[in-house]
Amino acid sequence: MHATRTLAEADRLMTVCNSCRYCEGLCAVFPAMEMRRAFSDGDLNYLANLCHACGACYVDCQFAPPHEFNVNVPKTLAAVRADSWATYAWPRALAHLFANNGVVIRLVTMLSLAAFIVGFAVFNDQKDLFGTHTGPGAFYALMPHKAMAALFGIIFLYAILALAMGVRAFWRDIGDPADTRVSTSAILQAIRDAATLRYLDGGGVGCFNADERPTDRRKLSHHLTFYGFLLCFAATCVATLYHYLLGREAPYAWWDLPVVLGTLGGLGLVIGPIGLLAARWRRDSALVEQKNSGMDIAFVLMLLLTSLTGLALLVWRDTAAMGLLLIVHLGFVSALFITMPYGKFVHGIYRFVALVRYAQERRAVSGEAAEE
Ligand code: SF4
Ligand code: SF4
Repeated sequence: MHATRTLAEADRLMTVCNSCRYCEGLCAVFPAMEMRRAFSDGDLNYLANLCHACGACYVDCQFAPPHEFNVNVPKTLAAVRADSWATYAWPRALAHLFANNGVVIRLVTMLSLAAFIVGFAVFNDQKDLFGTHTGPGAFYALMPHKAMAALFGIIFLYAILALAMGVRAFWRDIGDPADTRVSTSAILQAIRDAATLRYLDGGGVGCFNADERPTDRRKLSHHLTFYGFLLCFAATCVATLYHYLLGREAPYAWWDLPVVLGTLGGLGLVIGPIGLLAARWRRDSALVEQKNSGMDIAFVLMLLLTSLTGLALLVWRDTAAMGLLLIVHLGFVSALFITMPYGKFVHGIYRFVALVRYAQERRAVSGEAAEE
């Protein structure tokens, strides 16, 4: 018995696929499936998070609709995947935030923007708020650095804690309890697979869209988004080191490392999300789990708007618009981090953990084969 009908459907499909095995060369899901004869809820959550939703196994499947077997692996695994994030969410009381996630993210963003508008208006007079501030410490004329660091530090640490607790529950559920230690080689393999999006290629031809012509555009957009996010994070880390170790206050010159990293990352976080939205638009609706649409689109839009407002702040920071742009950018950044453990962001974390598990399983199997 499975906890949900979606898991029961995934079990049915994996049982069909395990007899067929036509798709075993396409991605990691099918080889991982073949290591099992029966599928617990944890197994199915693991397989669902290994799936990169390239669509190849749907296009290749002789049992896809209208066949009576009605095999649609990408769509079913997408539904299981989204449910799994709610299953492992921490604290449990907030698991329901994954349902109607688009509305939740809109609401949190509006509240966050409102809080910054009120906060800036209360603690600054109109002359400062709409005045021109330049040179080191210009941002902190409107919001003290200590207040900014404390607020975002708390939000960030909470997000890390919530994500870590969720991953802990996931890891325990998808692994043999006696074998939950993580090997360094499995982590390195998973980092390589995640960094190159090894399994987002439809078995080598690319992702499938409505016209069944595979392309690599979705993979490229995903790379731009992911590395853009990493560069922006690196820019924040370098700026923090500048502040505390060198006593140098933001904003920095355009050629300084935090600005260069932030600008490159920001551009990636504009082009990538636009590409992902376009790819979603072109995608075959048979592959899309409509229930997840709000969550998928809200997350990509949050990345895009956070990046656009950050770039706008960079361009107009020496003008009287700086106060307003700072409010809007900080409002989006805080909403992004508050909702991080309860939205699509978690897919990258859970997929990485599934890749670690897969690398570990592969090594265990090849080790056993070598011993024989
Ligand atoms: S998706 Fe279809 S073709 Fe591929 S393994 Fe499953 S049943 Fe076979
Ligand atoms: S959609 Fe792509 S990644 Fe997912 S199971 Fe099918 S072939 Fe594998």
